[in-house]
Order: sequence, then C-alpha cells, then structure tokens
Amino acid sequence: CGIIGILGNKAVTPLLMDALKRLEYRGYDSAGVATLLNGRIDRRRAEGKIVNLEGVIDEQPLGGTVGIGHTRWATHGRPTESNAHPHANTEVAVVHNGIIENFRALRKELEAAGHSFETETDTEVVVHLVTDYLNSQKSPEEAVAATLKRLHGAFALAIIFAGRHDLMIGARRGSPLALGYGDGELYLGSDSLALAPLTDRICFLEEGDWVVLHKDEAKIYDQEDRPVDRPVTRTVMSG
Ligand code: GLU
Repeated sequence: CGIIGILGNKAVTPLLMDALKRLEYRGYDSAGVATLLNGRIDRRRAEGKIVNLEGVIDEQPLGGTVGIGHTRWATHGRPTESNAHPHANTEVAVVHNGIIENFRALRKELEAAGHSFETETDTEVVVHLVTDYLNSQKSPEEAVAATLKRLHGAFALAIIFAGRHDLMIGARRGSPLALGYGDGELYLGSDSLALAPLTDRICFLEEGDWVVLHKDEAKIYDQEDRPVDRPVTRTVMSG
C-alpha cells in the first residue's frame, strides 16, 4: 500500500527501508525492495512486518544506489513472500499499488505468447507486458507507454530496468504518486511523508500522468503522452 523509488548516488537500501517505515501507517501485509547492482536487478522480500524484511537484508545485504520498495496490501494473491513486490525478471522490476482490473485477460494473452508467471498477483502482468514490448525493440519509455495503454484499473507504479542506472519510470492512475527532486537525485513516493527525509521539493503527479526520471531531469507526460509541466511545491521538512 506504499511505494518508494530512489534514483540516487548513495547506498540506497537503508534509504528505501527508512521510507518503507514511514509508509507503515497506511497498512500492509508484506514488504520488499529491489535494487540495481552492476546493472543487475536483485531483490529481497518478506511476509509480515518491515522488521522481517530487515532481518532478511541483514543476512543478505543488498547494494546499489538505485532502487524501489513496496509495502503490500494484498488484493489478488495471498500475502506470501512470493506474491510480495517488487515483481521482477532479469529485465525489469515493478512495484504497484492498486488493482489491475483486466489482469486475467492480459495474463491469458501473455501466457499464450510464452510468458510463464511466478505469482498469483494482478501486478505481474506489468512485468511481462513491459518485457514483451522491450523484446519487440521498444525503448523503456515506449514500452511503458504501450503497457499503460493496456491496463484498466487504479494504480501507481514504479519501474526500474536492468543495465539502466540512470532511469526510473513512474505512473499514476487512481492511486497517488509524488515526484521528489533532490540534488542530482530523483525520487518517487506514495506521499510526501515517505519523501520527507530525502527532499522538500515535491511535485504531485496528476491523474493519468507518467514520468521518466533521469538523474538530472524528470519528464512528465499526461495520459495522451504529451509532455506537461506540473508545479513543484515545498513541503515542510519533518525529518
Ligand atoms: N494489487 C496488488 C497486489 O495485490 C497491489 C496491492 C497494493 O496496493 O499493495 O499485489
């Protein structure tokens, strides 16, 4: 029920974990993080409280400066470790809040095209759709734009890509998502509380917006894929 994304320059896992704790108040049944290390996606997930995820990370630390994190409130698929986000393959990792209403039809279509699914979630179709578009020579931006057009329902998404330490893509439709501006870093979060220790410069994405983050700039598009400007507000730092 909460999302954090950090396209940063410092060890990202402690920052992701701090943000997940700030999102705990929204309620959740499991949690997870994924990072890029030497271009490869790696992740840690756990059922139950954030402290369980901390235990997993203590045993198997997760490096990297770019990453995404999630607290899950299960809607489709039991609250198990394997259904916990991020959902990933070797190409992309995805965190999602909300519900993808047409996931059954999409899953059927993707399975017929040779994709095999690992989880019971609605979210996993996003991993396979983006990968399918990447495999048909689309850029990550094009792949996400094409994926968003296939999804029905309410969602906020944050996506990272193997080999792309300079890229993160977010989208909001029906679930909140904020973009945070740092010093040579950019962030995504479900609310300004999650981003408070990172930055006080925040832009609340509007309904249907999606955003492409590079370290030094963020480009926001509306649901017709037109570039748009959204106001940046200064929040009161709450540490
Ligand atoms: N529908 C997704 C799931 O059940 C996301 C739930 C959430 O918003 O945390 O995994």
